[in-house]
Amino acid sequence: MLYVSNKRKACAEVGIDSETLHFPTGTTKEELISRIRILGADARTHGILVQLPLPAHLKTEDIIEEIPPSKDVDGLHSSNVANLTLGRPGFVPCTPAGVMEILHRSAVHLEGMHAVVVGRSNLVGRPLLQLLLRENCTVSVCHSKTRDLGAITKQADLLVAAMGRPAALGFRQIKKGSIVIDVGINRLSKEEAPAHFFTRGSRTARILEKRGKVLVGDVDPFAAKELASAYTPVPGGVGPMTIAMLLNNTYLAAKMAAELS
Ligand code: NDP
Repeated sequence: MLYVSNKRKACAEVGIDSETLHFPTGTTKEELISRIRILGADARTHGILVQLPLPAHLKTEDIIEEIPPSKDVDGLHSSNVANLTLGRPGFVPCTPAGVMEILHRSAVHLEGMHAVVVGRSNLVGRPLLQLLLRENCTVSVCHSKTRDLGAITKQADLLVAAMGRPAALGFRQIKKGSIVIDVGINRLSKEEAPAHFFTRGSRTARILEKRGKVLVGDVDPFAAKELASAYTPVPGGVGPMTIAMLLNNTYLAAKMAAELS
């Protein structure tokens, strides 16, 4: 719900009208699809996104495929996935687009870099592979079945963590001087937080002490601080860029619709 309200707030800030539709538990595939089709045919609606994950009885692909590709501002429709893979124009998923925007705006010279992406989801890892290849990086994609993860991540000039495993990449996985992009968002309680979060005296430790919970990425922030030449923190970093890219995609969708009308 936090994701949705942040998106709504961001839309309001830039003057995009947004509407959040809540569906009761047990909403059928047909009911959801019929609503998406109405929005798809509505000329005043320029962007449609379905907040994932969906309940187990709904198959993500079945629902996403009903969004017209020209309104698919999350870039998850198979047409947009194909466009990205083939290097054609189309909507790019917001989080990978945000990662690339951070790298471009930071003037990182990507060509020839060894980029290691940890995570291969349709939402993050796979589109990032395509985007980094476009920039002439050499890309390794790791996942839960990768053997000796650290041996691979230690070779990364650019390390992107999108695993959903709190602080999983640390001193033994990060190469000194590398650029580290932390996509992960994990909510940890005091009991779940790694012990060294308390001992080193940091903002994270203070928040944890005060609120009993803290947002942590997939990268150990202490290791990143010591080893990386540049690092995107959590919270901050990629999260706000994801929302910015959603606004950008929605603007582009509206512009395209206006040009066609
Ligand atoms: P998924 O659960 O869909 O995918 C996780 C990926 O990480 C999978 O490919 C999985 O491998 C891999 N993985 C899991 N554990 C390990 C491990 N121990 N070693 C190596 N690889 C592993 O997650 P998402 O891609 O949707 O999200 C990833 C993280 O990014 C989450 O923390 C999520 O909250 C965050 N996120 C943040 C966003 C933002 O705006 N900043 C937006 C979207 C996501 P396998 O394929 O083998 O299962």
